[in-house]
Amino acid sequence: MAKVELKGIGKVYDGNVRAVDNANIVVDDQEFVVFVGPSGCGKSTTLRMVAGLEEISEGELFIDGERMNDVPPKDRNIAMVFQNYALYPHMTVYDNMAFGLKIRKTDKKEIERRVNEAARILDIEKLLDRKPKALSGGQRQRVAVGRAIVRNPKVFLFDEPLSNLDAKLRVQMRAEISDLHNRLKATMIYVTHDQVEAMTMGDKIVVMKDGKVQQIGSPLYLYNHP
Ligand code: ADP
Ligand code: ADP
Repeated sequence: MAKVELKGIGKVYDGNVRAVDNANIVVDDQEFVVFVGPSGCGKSTTLRMVAGLEEISEGELFIDGERMNDVPPKDRNIAMVFQNYALYPHMTVYDNMAFGLKIRKTDKKEIERRVNEAARILDIEKLLDRKPKALSGGQRQRVAVGRAIVRNPKVFLFDEPLSNLDAKLRVQMRAEISDLHNRLKATMIYVTHDQVEAMTMGDKIVVMKDGKVQQIGSPLYLYNHP
């Protein structure tokens, strides 16, 4: 179970840049919600506030009814997948996926079980001994997703995860992430500037512009209310 609620969330960076203004968004349990809008509209900042990687200036964030504003990222039960993969270059795929669990002192057998299961789900079992530089872009992206899966989070956050991939691979990975959503039945928030990506992947789409939420609706609703 994981329902995420943003109530009047705002962000003012020091030097008083207003990045997000009064965002009211409900992400229901197991929903796939996409934040879409042009570069600089505040998507990433909003996502980072949900992750706890950025302090919330205004408003309140709730996960399953619990106020999260002052809860540190590691206690939010959230995992984030970034556009630049953020893999450790000197570690193997296995160690990259295991790292977050190791530093949380998870039992070694349990780490093995979770890494192998994630590798199976993502079809990267044969790559576990490789270093990131020996992987293609798509494979690296799978490992980055694998690192999120092993944490068994309630909520997955994706920040433009496919924007470094070529067009063909992007289309394939969209389908893979949608499929993953169906299989894991997790709550997911996905940020993109790509309207096609938003319309094909989202159960619900949040359209942002200049730091404000402009529209929220299903792809069909937004198609009929441009
Ligand atoms: P998006 O993800 O939609 O491209 P961002 O959330 O990254 O937008 O940025 C929203 C606004 O906040 C932009 O004007 C950006 O320049 C500004 N901004 C983002 N990060 C910072 C920061 N660390 N310090 C100051 N301003 C920032
Ligand atoms: P790793 O970066 O290998 O996943 P951790 O998961 O332990 O290592 O990350 C350390 C801290 O950095 C976490 O407690 C969390 O606050 C933040 N962090 C790192 N990676 C993520 C992620 N994928 N999702 C959310 N937070 C993360």
